[in-house]
Amino acid sequence: MKKIDIPVKQESNDLQATSSSACHGGKQRMQEAAKTAGKSEIIDQYKKDYPTGPHDQPQSMCPAFGSLRVGLRMRRTATILSGSACCVYGLTFTSHFYGGRRSVGYVPFNSETLVTGKLFEDIREAVYKQADPKKFDAVVIINLCVPTASGVPLQLLPKEINGVRIIGIDVPGFGVPTHAEAKDILAAAMLKVARSEIEVGPVAAPRVKQSDKPSLTLLGEIFPVDPVSISMMIEKMGLSVGPVVPTREWRELYQAFNCSAVAALHPFYTASVREFEAAGRTIVGSAPVGVDGTNMWLEKIGIASGIKKEKIDIAKNSVLPLIKTTLEKNKIKGSVTLSGYEGSELIVARLLIESGADVKYVGTACPKTKFSEDDYKWLVDRKVVVTYRASLENDLEAMNEYNPDIAIGTTPVVQAAKELGKPSLYFTNLISARPLMGVAGVGSIAQVINSAIANKSRFDKMKSFFGGVGEGYKAGIWEETPVDRPEFREVTRKKNARKLGSRAKESA
Ligand code: SF4
Repeated sequence: MKKIDIPVKQESNDLQATSSSACHGGKQRMQEAAKTAGKSEIIDQYKKDYPTGPHDQPQSMCPAFGSLRVGLRMRRTATILSGSACCVYGLTFTSHFYGGRRSVGYVPFNSETLVTGKLFEDIREAVYKQADPKKFDAVVIINLCVPTASGVPLQLLPKEINGVRIIGIDVPGFGVPTHAEAKDILAAAMLKVARSEIEVGPVAAPRVKQSDKPSLTLLGEIFPVDPVSISMMIEKMGLSVGPVVPTREWRELYQAFNCSAVAALHPFYTASVREFEAAGRTIVGSAPVGVDGTNMWLEKIGIASGIKKEKIDIAKNSVLPLIKTTLEKNKIKGSVTLSGYEGSELIVARLLIESGADVKYVGTACPKTKFSEDDYKWLVDRKVVVTYRASLENDLEAMNEYNPDIAIGTTPVVQAAKELGKPSLYFTNLISARPLMGVAGVGSIAQVINSAIANKSRFDKMKSFFGGVGEGYKAGIWEETPVDRPEFREVTRKKNARKLGSRAKESA
């Protein structure tokens, strides 16, 4: 195999990342290291695409999981990680926990291979070994924190080997706020390549025969029933449903561009939207949830696709009365706080409110974009507190302040709710993994929430049975009950504050 000269920086300054640097190594420091190592452009682009604030990085899983998941869900796609072994272990574990059916590739490194540039050679070799056109359409290679901070130059990999596309992306925890946005990074990188292939000539036709009607591309990972519901809603306008992006195979990417409009059902796909806009496609935000949401969405989709008003009205009249009666038959009784990191939190809150729930607070780890603007206004008009880039602290404060009948949230929110004896549901597994759109969404969500609220008496029983056993400093199994030592905590707190102060001075 032909070797090439790799311009890997071999600086011995303070900013160089080492194999022991990681998400706990200091975000600022890692960003500076990456910039020094030649990754300024990508770090700056991520800052623009995924703006932070009020919280700079909501607590959620390693962001790279988002890209990994997108790669693993695609047919004929190999996904390889380059990063610290502990990160790769966690990411592999999580992806298989969530049903990733394909193997995760890994190119390991140590301090020597990292600083001498040998790691890039190893990645290049791994990519060449994997690039078998009989097995794969694309090989994805993902730089995690340390290789990104060290400037491992994936952009120098060949763009294709034997007809297999090579897609190298940097997905560092210090540059990408959430795993949701990491999905966008890989989806957009693939869309970009597919768009350039379309521009130079004919591309592969879809494997499954497509409808002759103009199609709507759906942007966002949604429950498999949702595209079917959307298809039924838009067929009266003479439209069909096209691929869902992130796609499940390469040739769907071409088809995704071949659409009358793009529905950004999840609002955080900023880089993917850029690709569709570059191809001249119109993007419509929000989603067809509840009566109001569906009404507004059908109108906007119809206009974006150039459909006449009469046809848009026919589509609305065929679906809205049914959603209305289903909502009336499936009422949710109770107050709710809701938080998550999937990006669908605002549309779920809309559906809950139309189902009768008293939603007090919605926290999302995702940023504010124009594609959730309608949902935001609709919720705020109904006095719901909506927090973008919400931290765990925001979500817990909301739960404690509003004392809802049910808290829907991330794992630590659900755990805190259970400790309080409060019914709770995990957003990712129990809410976002079910249909939300159209009639199917209405019945499904009411059932799960009402049965969780009805379980309150079981929580009360458990709480009185366990009493205060094992809480706080007494948690765990002991022969003698531990004694609280707040003064020790204070000493440690002061030590840590001193350390942080001297580190800040050093880097100033
Ligand atoms: S790759 Fe993920 S787990 Fe590893 S250091 Fe970065 S953010 Fe943390």
